[in-house]
Amino acid sequence: MKKSKLLYEGKAKKIWQTDNDNLYIAEFKDDLTAFDAQKRSQAQGKGALNCKISANLFRLLEKNGIKTHFVECISENEMVIKKADMIMIEVVVRNIATGSLTKRLGIADGTVLPFALVEFYYKNDALHDPLINDEHALILELVDNESELEELKRLGREINVVLKSFFDKANLNLVDFKVEFGKDSEGNIILADEISPDSCRFWDKTSGEKLDKDLFRHDLGDVKVAYEEVLNRIQKVIQ
Ligand code: ADP
Ligand code: UDP
Repeated sequence: MKKSKLLYEGKAKKIWQTDNDNLYIAEFKDDLTAFDAQKRSQAQGKGALNCKISANLFRLLEKNGIKTHFVECISENEMVIKKADMIMIEVVVRNIATGSLTKRLGIADGTVLPFALVEFYYKNDALHDPLINDEHALILELVDNESELEELKRLGREINVVLKSFFDKANLNLVDFKVEFGKDSEGNIILADEISPDSCRFWDKTSGEKLDKDLFRHDLGDVKVAYEEVLNRIQKVIQ
């Protein structure tokens, strides 16, 4: 599989066209951004770590019946993915309150939520990815109908059940995460993008230590060391 044209360069990945019409290559970059890309840095090796972590989690989810865009890894920081018509919604699932939820609603940081909360954000950099409800999503025509929104919620919750119990075995609390979905060539909704410590929050179950991008957001420690730890724990659980 060969990269041909660069289709898109985002904050964390480059998406390449290939010689196969249905497949792209996602190249994971070492760039780190936070707060609407106002804070920027790089961590050498971060792209490779996120590529490996995502690949492992996509495989785990596939094994548990969730369809993803993942095909195979072809280098340290590149994976072949199925081309998807992206749904411009960021689906956030939360088990423990932190980040924007605590700021918006005044819920104390660290509060365990009584059930997994699913939220939709409009994926639109110019508007700073605002929180939206189902009716906004329909009016903006981000999906075709209400049942697609229900499917996004169901998939978000299913992914949460699989990942939460997996990370439990790695002594990590899955605090919250963001996922993106797209439609494949047959119109099926599939999980796309990435699942990594850039897009999830992990807290060590014993010490409470953060092992995710919050280390970069709030200058709390070395991102690369933390992401390596997440990958090591994932590999131990999988063995
Ligand atoms: P951002 O666009 O937020 O800066 P990235 O740097 O991660 O984020 O860019 C990757 C882009 O590729 C995102 O816009 C994402 O929606 C898109 N994408 C992810 N998976 C696929 C896929 N399977 N097919 C098409 N586009 C995808
Ligand atoms: N998240 C993400 N991309 C975004 C916004 C959020 O991956 O553009 C992830 C974030 O890493 C966290 C979850 O979604 O795991 C919830 O993020 P929150 O809304 O608390 O965002 P904050 O503003 O605190 O980053």
